[in-house]
This record gives sequence, structure tokens and C-alpha cells, in this order.
Amino acid sequence: MKGCYFCKGKIVEQRVRVDFRWGNDLVVIEDVPAEVCRQCGEKYFSPEVYKEMENLAKTKEKPIEHVEIDVFRFVKPAVGKAKSL
Ligand SMILES: [Zn+2]
Repeated sequence: MKGCYFCKGKIVEQRVRVDFRWGNDLVVIEDVPAEVCRQCGEKYFSPEVYKEMENLAKTKEKPIEHVEIDVFRFVKPAVGKAKSL
């Protein structure tokens, strides 16, 4: 298997929770099979998996849970020296 596209880190198969955006909608999908970079956490999905996530977001059939989400606007000035994490 090839490494991470971004950092060349090692990729492992894992079930993950995905915040999936579909237009203006945001849905959370759990137990999504993905390949996850152990170094930077980038997630990779197969086209089939991605399609199914789209499908779930579109049809919104039988959600297992409903949560309200708070939306914020970033207001603090972000100018200045970039600080590395
Ligand atoms: Zn990576």
C-alpha cells in the first residue's frame, strides 16, 4: 500500500467518524471504513464509500441520532506571524 499523499506517512485501515458536508448540509456519519494516515490523520475513502456517504447525506434515512450544531464566525484577528503547532 502506498503512503500518505501529504506526508508519506503510514496508512492504516480504520473505521472513522466523518463530518460530511453535502451542499449546505452537514451530517455526521459513523463507522465509515477509511484509510487513515497515522502521521497527519488524513483520511482516504474509496469511491464506493464516498458514494455511500453522499447517498446517506442526500436521503437522510433513519439517522441514529440528531444533534444541534453551533456555528461560529471566526472574529479574532489572524494577522501576524504564523505560529507552528
Ligand atoms: Zn499523512
